[in-house]
Amino acid sequence: MAYLKPGREHCLAARRDIDQRGAWWLAWQRVQAGLREVFARLPSTCPLCQDPAYGGCLCVLCRQDVLASRLAFPCCERCGLCPAQASDCPDCIALVPAFEKVIAACDYAFPADQLIRQFKQQHRFQHSRALAALIAQSLQGAMPEWWGQAWLVPIPASRQALLRRGFNPAVELARGVQVHLGARVRTDILLRSRETGAERVQKRLQRSQRLQAAGQAFVCRQNLAQAHIVLVDDVMTTGATLHAAASVLRQAGAKTVWGVVAARTPYHVR
Ligand SMILES: [Zn+2]
Ligand SMILES: [Zn+2]
Repeated sequence: MAYLKPGREHCLAARRDIDQRGAWWLAWQRVQAGLREVFARLPSTCPLCQDPAYGGCLCVLCRQDVLASRLAFPCCERCGLCPAQASDCPDCIALVPAFEKVIAACDYAFPADQLIRQFKQQHRFQHSRALAALIAQSLQGAMPEWWGQAWLVPIPASRQALLRRGFNPAVELARGVQVHLGARVRTDILLRSRETGAERVQKRLQRSQRLQAAGQAFVCRQNLAQAHIVLVDDVMTTGATLHAAASVLRQAGAKTVWGVVAARTPYHVR
């Protein structure tokens, strides 16, 4: 792996970057918070049921529906698989993830799957507001102490997916989470290494095959030197993609790698 800078220098550069952006960053955060307050009060319609809602988010009843399944069953504290206990999660037993924790806003099941399909496949970009709000709500109960220094790193889309959709859903979600919770989005840290063609058939692969296909998918050409990274993705199925990305970031020096996703595929529907 080629690094752009030696570790200590880059660590100091990263520290300078944080210090230098302090003033304008705080000012921008205040502006964003003000705009968010205003926008959150604007009447809109619920993306799922079209009932009155606010700020482009789900109405109260739809939000309860979307969140219900993850509240009803125990979920793995590490990979977010539901239902699964932390001590006997089949995914974490099969392979210890390179990430420390994944927070999923909801299960990839009705009615959340409708929202995500419309967002990804029907170019309903505005749904990113509702999904990012759900992610932010899930994160607020589990905010780590290092959140102020965290970088939000969206999983880069494959070339085929970008051509098909015209946008990367993970980037839109990361920007939405940034608006709510303030961490900085970095799209320059994690890159696709090459197009293997595996993405086109990944939905039909078993977990072991997905892990193998995802293993070479990403590259990081920076020394992350003790950085705290939060990977962002729309849907997590087996965790192969997040594991592969987290492995690359770990090799680049990241101290902490978490993941946040809009939805996690439940164990019984895989
Ligand atoms: Zn609704
Ligand atoms: Zn697990």
